[in-house]
Amino acid sequence: MNEYDSNRIFDITKKIGFTKTENLEETNCYLLNTCHIRDKAKEKVYHEIGRVKKKFKFKKKPIIIIAGCVAQAENEEMIKREPYIDIVIGPQAYHKINDKIKEHIDNQEKLDETEFDTISKFDYLNKIQNSSKKVSSFLTIQEGCDKFCHFCVVPYTRGPEHSRSFKEIIDEAKSLSENGVKEIILLGQNVNAYNSNDYRLSDLILEIEKIREIKRIRYTTSHPRDMTEDLINVYSISKKIMPLVHLPVQSGSDRILKLMNRKHLVRDYIKTYEKLKMINQSIEFSSDFIIAYPGEEEKDFKATLDLIKNIKFINSFSFIFSPRPGTVASGLNLIDKKISLRRLEKVQKQLFDHQILMNKSLENKEIEVLVENKTKESNKFFGRSEYMTSVIFDGNDEEVGNVVKVKIKNSNQNTLFGESLKLKRRVA
Ligand code: SF4
Repeated sequence: MNEYDSNRIFDITKKIGFTKTENLEETNCYLLNTCHIRDKAKEKVYHEIGRVKKKFKFKKKPIIIIAGCVAQAENEEMIKREPYIDIVIGPQAYHKINDKIKEHIDNQEKLDETEFDTISKFDYLNKIQNSSKKVSSFLTIQEGCDKFCHFCVVPYTRGPEHSRSFKEIIDEAKSLSENGVKEIILLGQNVNAYNSNDYRLSDLILEIEKIREIKRIRYTTSHPRDMTEDLINVYSISKKIMPLVHLPVQSGSDRILKLMNRKHLVRDYIKTYEKLKMINQSIEFSSDFIIAYPGEEEKDFKATLDLIKNIKFINSFSFIFSPRPGTVASGLNLIDKKISLRRLEKVQKQLFDHQILMNKSLENKEIEVLVENKTKESNKFFGRSEYMTSVIFDGNDEEVGNVVKVKIKNSNQNTLFGESLKLKRRVA
């Protein structure tokens, strides 16, 4: 979501004459879009500002703006701790960024803008064209969360759930397709809770699918409780929804899910998996796991391992629990470091084994790849499989932006290597 937000912030600041630069030393406005999900996020921001400060030691300093969730969580405290910072702006207020920049230039004041104002943000953004020209582009449909999992900062930093209007999203999808976008990844902290005048995520997928130029549709990140029948049913109707379901489960133990305040049960998760598999055997799952959550016993951990073996997730994120300030779980007793690490290693081994096996199973097969670009380092091309796996292959320039058939010759844990069939025929 931060990548989407950063692009939109750029679309807004373009209006007052800013352009992007790769060269830090020539910048006159430096904006850091931060993520609070990351470990030690706050300290990383101050470290980064220290780096900028050094570069400008003997020069006029740029306007320093801290945006995103760390800005939201820390607000004016950031300016007090580091007066080099000029503006702190939360994720729900970045539509006001041009006014804040002007205000700062005019009055040389330090400014803190961290209100939760999601509705006016999207009202403003709808009037500004999304300039993303990537083959695969994000599109935010929903922000915030009302679920309050005990480990998570999102409800505090992104505010309550808010869904954008159906029409605005479809208009943005059309405009992206006119820019050359071929794949849309619908975004939300709780994307499948999308609900705008009874339009659900399923309705959005089926409507976007009608845009001829859009070849692939994905969504992230979803919650098991919101995997409703209409959404499951989309997998039997849609021709463009991709067969990888990223559905964070966090733990395979109901006792831990309850301690986490996840509000879903393992058996319901498995039921969703089975229903989707019934619709289409080639659907695969990926997930997020928090290992060694406070209170996790060996039997809970074993339940997580069993779930992983049962579902055979092909691509997942797993981390040892680390507390986030302000959350319910931040005051709980941590599990011994050695035990946590041992559990994480076991989980990751299992997850990586599935990933490697999945990739191996594609060797010598022809798969469909959406080609995103030519790689800089070599003369190869980069794209993604239906399961989001990176594919590096021999191809040709006309294939960029198209879904092409690639014969996979080799693989490792994260990447598939191959050759475009068109190229193969041409050589033959
Ligand atoms: S559902 Fe997701 S975003 Fe919401 S509180 Fe839980 S982990 Fe955070």
